[in-house]
Amino acid sequence: MLSTMQDVPLLISRILTHGSTIHGSSQVITWTGEAEPHRRSFAEIGTRSAQLAHALTEDLGVREDDRVATLAWNNAEHVEAYFAVPSMGAVLHTLNLRLPAEQLAWIVNHAADRVVIANGSLIPLLAPLLPHLPTVEHVVVTGPGDRTPLEGVRPRVHEYEELIAGKPTAYDWPELDERRAAAMCYTSGTTGDPKGVVYSHRSVYLHSMQVNMTESMGLTDQDTSLVVVPQFHVNAWGLPHATFMTGVNMLMPDRFLQPAPLAEMIEVERPTHAAAVPTIWQGLLAELTARPRDVSSLHQVTIGGAACPPSLMEAFDALGMRVCHAWGMTETSPLGTVARPPAHAVGTEEEFAYRLTQGRFPTGVEARLTGPGGERLPWDGQSAGELEVRGAWIAGAYYNGVDAEPLRPADKFSEDGWLKTGDVGTISPDGFLTLTDRAKDVIKSGGEWISSVDLENALMSHPDVAEAAVVAVPDDKWGERPLATVVLKEGATADFKTLRSFLAGEGIAKWQLPERWTIIESVPKTSVGKFDKKVLRRQYAEGKLDVQQL
Ligand code: ADP
Repeated sequence: MLSTMQDVPLLISRILTHGSTIHGSSQVITWTGEAEPHRRSFAEIGTRSAQLAHALTEDLGVREDDRVATLAWNNAEHVEAYFAVPSMGAVLHTLNLRLPAEQLAWIVNHAADRVVIANGSLIPLLAPLLPHLPTVEHVVVTGPGDRTPLEGVRPRVHEYEELIAGKPTAYDWPELDERRAAAMCYTSGTTGDPKGVVYSHRSVYLHSMQVNMTESMGLTDQDTSLVVVPQFHVNAWGLPHATFMTGVNMLMPDRFLQPAPLAEMIEVERPTHAAAVPTIWQGLLAELTARPRDVSSLHQVTIGGAACPPSLMEAFDALGMRVCHAWGMTETSPLGTVARPPAHAVGTEEEFAYRLTQGRFPTGVEARLTGPGGERLPWDGQSAGELEVRGAWIAGAYYNGVDAEPLRPADKFSEDGWLKTGDVGTISPDGFLTLTDRAKDVIKSGGEWISSVDLENALMSHPDVAEAAVVAVPDDKWGERPLATVVLKEGATADFKTLRSFLAGEGIAKWQLPERWTIIESVPKTSVGKFDKKVLRRQYAEGKLDVQQL
């Protein structure tokens, strides 16, 4: 028997229409580095998105399914592209501006982008790439920045404001199939070529509702969210779409992502929420320690993308900024788990331990653990295996060109269609995920696994340590052993023996204690600010690290 309910497609245009009318007075505030930030209401974003869609269709000839890329920081114009492009039936492709030029070109060519909307400040990055981007016909430039490097280039160059000026402020958004492509994002390609994940209108819509749930970020129109996580990093974790559903104001840092301007924007604009990877918060913490600021407005800080060190959570708690840990990946839109402690743990000693887990799975994300032999492992909080997930906002394949069959590599998708996350961990009986490692980072020592994350967290809780990364290195006797790479705080003097005894005192088993140690200036980071362990492994293999053996 069929239901009697209406079948209204879950479209991004509906989120835009809702946000720009019902929440028309909410604002996108873009930091400019000048006396006043730039403010644009959701209503204006709505009319300007319509104008942009007219310009893309009528002036640039963009048709359904065409890929329109953005090379942009978090700002109001980027939000306009977020809504205009998918709503008109084209596909938004957010480019990661921190990727090496060659990889960026590879991605643009793979996606066959026709248009690139770029911030003026990124012209120095874009201009030299253009001769290698045969599919790109138009470049649309927004905001300040010297245009000279674009003179004489092959694609036609347009000024964003001139292009949209005078266009009608309403657009008759097409009634698309909700399963059609809306946006795409390539994984940063820590192994092999980058892989394209293509989100649908339906997946974005459902994911945004989950982001808004109280058990996730739970924000309302009384909130302002400081969106530090880049719009090119998994759709800024879904925040631009989610905020248009609920009227949350967005504070966008544009290119001002250094600790000092971030501290200033928190003090001046008083956001109530912020989202970013741990390295951003480590930087902010050092800044706030050196130059205290009033950050009391910030009562919720979503940390994800990499494990949140306990020491960071404690330090933020002490400043009154409550950390909420979350896990996800490009393939999961990204919201996979959020660590809100269960009712029975609130106010008890267990609460902190729950908050440190990666979090609990929401209704929309089903999970299972697979052991090394392919066996299903129990949710007992003990058995560690590879996490596999499935759900309406989880990727089932990778993009492989317009007419090609999508890619389903066997190491990324199970035969029955679940996503193999490459993350290793345990799940408690009440559904809390604790990651012990990424499959490729785990240290296999004498047939046992050592968690690099546990060692790093313990090291980073030492008062002399600013950052620490632990990687597996080959060992004749044990197969692999941990190498501890440590960044000391300014003026700190702790030696390796002290750090090793400290680890033992922190409950690290004796056989897991690293015997190889080295001091580094900073931990190499990936394009989205995570520890780049493959660089450390390579530096070790090439003998570039000054390693001391205890
Ligand atoms: P990349 O794989 O290139 O880093 P993603 O942004 O998709 O790009 O990264 C997803 C991965 O980041 C996850 O598979 C996981 O290993 C890691 N990750 C994300 N959030 C967390 C977290 N809270 N704790 C530990 N690891 C995390």
